[in-house]
Amino acid sequence: MDEPAPTPYAAPGEGDVVVYRGATLIDGTGASARRASIVVDGAKIVAVDADPEVPAGAVEVDLAGRFVIPGLIDSHQHIATPPNRPVAEAALRRQVFGGVTAIRDMADDLRQIADLARATLVGEIPGPDIVYAALMAGPSFFDDPRTWQVSQGETPGRVPWMQAIDEETDLPLAVARAQGTHAKAIKVYANLPASTVEDIVDEAHRQGMMVWAHATVFPARPGEVVAAGVDSVSHVSLLAYETAEGLLNYKDKPAFDAANLIANGDPRLDALYADMRERGTILDATAGMWIWMANQAGQSAEVDQAARNRALTNVELSAKLTAAAYRAGVEISTGTDYETDPENPFPSLHEELVFLHEQCGIPAEQVIRSATLVGARSMGAADRMGSVEAGKLANFVVLARDPLADLRHLDSIEFVVKRGHRYERSDYTQPAASGVQTQGHGVQA
Ligand SMILES: [Zn+2]
Repeated sequence: MDEPAPTPYAAPGEGDVVVYRGATLIDGTGASARRASIVVDGAKIVAVDADPEVPAGAVEVDLAGRFVIPGLIDSHQHIATPPNRPVAEAALRRQVFGGVTAIRDMADDLRQIADLARATLVGEIPGPDIVYAALMAGPSFFDDPRTWQVSQGETPGRVPWMQAIDEETDLPLAVARAQGTHAKAIKVYANLPASTVEDIVDEAHRQGMMVWAHATVFPARPGEVVAAGVDSVSHVSLLAYETAEGLLNYKDKPAFDAANLIANGDPRLDALYADMRERGTILDATAGMWIWMANQAGQSAEVDQAARNRALTNVELSAKLTAAAYRAGVEISTGTDYETDPENPFPSLHEELVFLHEQCGIPAEQVIRSATLVGARSMGAADRMGSVEAGKLANFVVLARDPLADLRHLDSIEFVVKRGHRYERSDYTQPAASGVQTQGHGVQA
């Protein structure tokens, strides 16, 4: 038998007990911060208690004066469009050393994602757990260059991870093909009518898969996408199309009155938020992404002022709609849809958390709940992640400074625990700048 690859980041074995003692715990459930100790056995938390019994032979780590939050979850990442393994590995390493212990990968070249997900799971490379989606869209979407980037060597629209769907499609077979990639969800992207979105949702749920949809699918409207029963909708700015007429397809988006929505909101959006709250549809807001988009538009050799202005309007629109959805009781997960520049020591998710607090008025403890427990629900993993509780995976972040006082204190990470394995922040090294670029954004202005 050949030897398997080394796994320096693997979870410790059962019976390997560590007691993290005396931190201020923000457990992710929205409960008040409290003093607690966390007992970890192998990959799992076995007790969270003010003064737990310490088994013989346990290692003790004194966390007096420190703050503990659950591992963060980015509900919107693309790490293989186009596939570039060194770039993806650098992003994953920075995410886990930056406190991100799980991500939703929202459609990519799944030939590469599947191996990256396996490698972070068994500990060959440092990175978050990766839960990923296979994409479905109408045939007319497949002239988008990103669909070619993720299907190299094959025919776009005819691969199991990215399928063109129309009325003729054998949906039970299409969903089964998607499931064969080990995807946990179908991502419903674009250019599908409401009746097809409904059919996809019914079949995916029947086969035990989740459905993560763009908030507008064109021509399917936000209200129709939510009513179809999807589990989450992405990109808060797309909710605005509930107020637009003449939705045709993803490329020819109709106009809506953004200035009015920013100033006054709209009763049609209020009805949509109420329906989302009722159904438990999670909003993957990606609210802060538009700042990054505006910067990108401003950096090119010839500044694309029209794109920059659209992005800046979307910054304001996203802030207002996210704030209104929060006040209406919609569950919000924290997705980014971009990564920060390589020289930035921290992943993009920190910026989204700060945006949700400072621009959308969401209290810090609720932002942390969004970034942990709601994120875990968004990927169907709340039974094992998203809060620091006995029985769940040992995924948490140890901070020197209080994140409730200022979410920017996420930059005071001392170490991260994922599946019981410790990632010391002092071991984090920046990748060599050459050849490593930022990646992302699955939505276009
Ligand atoms: Zn995306």
